[in-house]
Amino acid sequence: MGAERAVYFFGNGVAEGTGSMREVLGGKGAGLAEMTSLGLPVPPGFTITTAECVRFYKEGRTLREDLKRDAMTAMKRVEAIVGRRFGDPENPLLVSVRSGARASMPGMMDTILNLGLNDVTVRGLIRETSNPRFAWDSYRRFIQMFGDVVLGVDHSEFEHLMDGVKKERGVRLDTQLTAEDLERLVKLYQAKVKERTGKEFPADPSEQLWASITAVFSSWYNDRAYSYRRMNRIPHDWGTAANIQAMVFGNLGEDSATGVAFTRDPSTGENQFYGEYLTNAQGEDVVAGIRTPHPLTVVQKDHGDDLPSLEEEMPVMFQELVAVRAKLEAHYKDMLDLEFTIERGRLWMLQTRSGKRTGVAALKIATDLVRSKMLDERQALLRVDPDVHLDQLLHPMIDPRAKLEPLAKGLNASPGAASGGAVFTAEAAVLAKAAGKTVVLVRTETSPEDIEGMAAAQAILTARGGRTSHAAVVARGMGKVCVAGCGALHVDVAARKATFETKKGPVVVNEGDPITIDGTNGFVYFGVVPTVDPELTGDYDVFMAWADKHRTLRVRTNADTPHDAAVARKFGAEGIGLCRTEHMFFGEERLPWVRKMILATNETERRAALERLKPMQREDFVGIFTAMDGLPVTIRLLDPPLHEFVPHTEHEAAELAREIGMDAADVWKRCQSLAEMNPMLGHRGCRLGITYPEIYEMQAIAIFEAAAEVKRNGKHPVPEIMLPLIGTTEEYRRLKDLVHQAAERVLGANQKTISYLVGTMIEVPRACIVADRIAEEAEFFSFGTNDLTQLTFGYSRDDAGTFLPQYVELGVLPRDPFLSLDVAGVGELIRMGTERGRSTKKDLKVGICGEHGGDPTSVGFCHTVGMNYVSCSPYRVPVARLAAAQAAVRAS
Ligand code: ADP
Ligand code: MG
Ligand code: MG
Repeated sequence: MGAERAVYFFGNGVAEGTGSMREVLGGKGAGLAEMTSLGLPVPPGFTITTAECVRFYKEGRTLREDLKRDAMTAMKRVEAIVGRRFGDPENPLLVSVRSGARASMPGMMDTILNLGLNDVTVRGLIRETSNPRFAWDSYRRFIQMFGDVVLGVDHSEFEHLMDGVKKERGVRLDTQLTAEDLERLVKLYQAKVKERTGKEFPADPSEQLWASITAVFSSWYNDRAYSYRRMNRIPHDWGTAANIQAMVFGNLGEDSATGVAFTRDPSTGENQFYGEYLTNAQGEDVVAGIRTPHPLTVVQKDHGDDLPSLEEEMPVMFQELVAVRAKLEAHYKDMLDLEFTIERGRLWMLQTRSGKRTGVAALKIATDLVRSKMLDERQALLRVDPDVHLDQLLHPMIDPRAKLEPLAKGLNASPGAASGGAVFTAEAAVLAKAAGKTVVLVRTETSPEDIEGMAAAQAILTARGGRTSHAAVVARGMGKVCVAGCGALHVDVAARKATFETKKGPVVVNEGDPITIDGTNGFVYFGVVPTVDPELTGDYDVFMAWADKHRTLRVRTNADTPHDAAVARKFGAEGIGLCRTEHMFFGEERLPWVRKMILATNETERRAALERLKPMQREDFVGIFTAMDGLPVTIRLLDPPLHEFVPHTEHEAAELAREIGMDAADVWKRCQSLAEMNPMLGHRGCRLGITYPEIYEMQAIAIFEAAAEVKRNGKHPVPEIMLPLIGTTEEYRRLKDLVHQAAERVLGANQKTISYLVGTMIEVPRACIVADRIAEEAEFFSFGTNDLTQLTFGYSRDDAGTFLPQYVELGVLPRDPFLSLDVAGVGELIRMGTERGRSTKKDLKVGICGEHGGDPTSVGFCHTVGMNYVSCSPYRVPVARLAAAQAAVRAS
């Protein structure tokens, strides 16, 4: 114990820590240390490590005596530099206590300014600055922050008192209050603290300090920090550091100021200094919206800000800041976010970190930094976040300038923003689309029968279901905006209306009323909200060319239609990794024949129905092979349980019977006989192919006929036929023979002219175990990780909504394994399956299809196990290309 250093000092050009110690010092502490070492003007201070926060929680939320001693030793060094003493009545040192985790969590945790003030030291500060107004203002701010953060007296209570004094004095702005007003406010604040806590406001600076450090550590587990971490996948066990730093004051008069800046424009990425500041202000005033901040530069003014800029008001300070900007960018080779304060004509730096930026800006900055030789291509690839930046670029988004009040919030299931009239059934969506209207499909939840309605809609909103619900998965596949699981929504299909429960009472949306859905963050708005279109600039092409150059994984797409295939190809897909044939069975003119085929009581009837379906399937494949000319197309033979295609009520069954000319009672009986207790573990996948070989035979024939036709048209079809849900070698062998026989029949002597592969989807754990034997027969493996995850965990994908969200919330699971691959379990099966498969067939082609193929972390895993390709929905293709490149760069 105590072997590790718990306190790192920085000040006067010397720092015990460095910028690379984020894990220990947190982002803020690391930045302060690095800036200090670079010789930039940073007020001295010290950082208490994140490990100390972790220990704090282990030891019942107390601070060790040793730690306090080390902190006081560091405080002496700060005192020596500043020439003031902590708690000194004449010349008091004031400090801030600032939180700072490894990952930036803006505004999530707490900071306290002006610590060290009490009724005695405030007098010293007055004498020393000859500025009583400043001193009382600093004191009342300290009581307010400490009262709120440490003592739990809500800041609104203080604001209320402040409003009272302002009203009494007949003024509007804080700045109009006099020293006397502020002194009175301090008394009122102290009385309020006494009233609420039953104790005097603590006067002893050391007591204030320990209580503040305790509060900063405790703020790691406040509600907003906790949920921020959950949303941003930041581990809860990291802890925060605490930074104690000598105060500098931007509120000492008109020659003082405080501000924030970005070294480049964070929304466009332009190489333009960009920021905001306020004179005679402290800390958070700039962002608090009390006064309107001024622009940093003259250029910003040209963009519509008419207030004077720092460049004009304090040219010397501005030039110093420009020099800091250059020094920091050259050092970090990145766009940075800065906090600065000017105290009586002296510049101080208070924070730096990598600046948050839009997708457009991320690409521009990464490519600009390469052009100016600050970074090489490989480093630049790591500067763009595939999930955040690229994804944003590929979808329209709500105009960031719009100020809006959302109606409700659900799960952000598929990104982008879109508006349209509300409709409550798939049919209504199709009709409205045909009439040239844009619509948003609003449902309690969606099912496969809603596919055409979903395709017709701009966006999909559901009341139930998670990010892997039918609506979410299909919407992502189609590149449609989707918000799922919007609990405040109640759909009344019969009355053609939806009701949203809001804080202000229920809001009714009737059919045709405009709504806007933001699938990037889950918000739903009433009315049409302005959106801005993504712009794929030249930077995008340049950057993605680097990604393609450095990646070794190929990227394919999951696409069921020629349209999706074409979209994906535009996004850079190098083939189709999963074409699901069942989606083709839901088409309007097909479903009756599909149902007839299923309800057939003998093989002859079934074959007759299949004969009707075959030309339609062939046509689909012709379209897809044509769109994917020259690229491989993996087609999965029929997979879902048959009962998904047939009516579920007696009434519907009777209707169907009439339609297809069968006896109503017979139809209903047959429908019921198809029902299964556990359809996902039932009669589906290759089990259908084994028991009804004529279905797979028809599909194989349609594929080969389509290939032959496309070939005759001068194109190059490359079919890869995939058998789903294989668990035993015997299943595989029989179905593979069936496919080869179909090829023989269709292609005959021409067989050599079309090269095709037969392989399997690996999605049953047993297949991973016997992969070496399956590979004796199979020509490729594609890991179907949706089912593999379901079967490995034993979580039903359709029912996991009842517990999985809680599992993630409670931290029982770090992430939803259906979204990000469970590397330890499912990943191990994939590794085993790949190794065993390749032990038999050295060059076995291995890929992944399923939601995980578009998740950057999972793509990274696929790279490390040596897969040949990943496959994902069309709009995720660029994301996967970049993730694959990043995995390659990181591995080398
Ligand atoms: P956050 O992480 O929420 O940005 P910070 O710890 O950066 O919180 O502090 C909040 C504000 O207080 C910032 O504007 C910062 O610049 C200012 N501030 C923090 N410490 C000092 C200090 N020692 N002197 C002057 N201003 C400070
Ligand atoms: Mg800050
Ligand atoms: Mg499957």
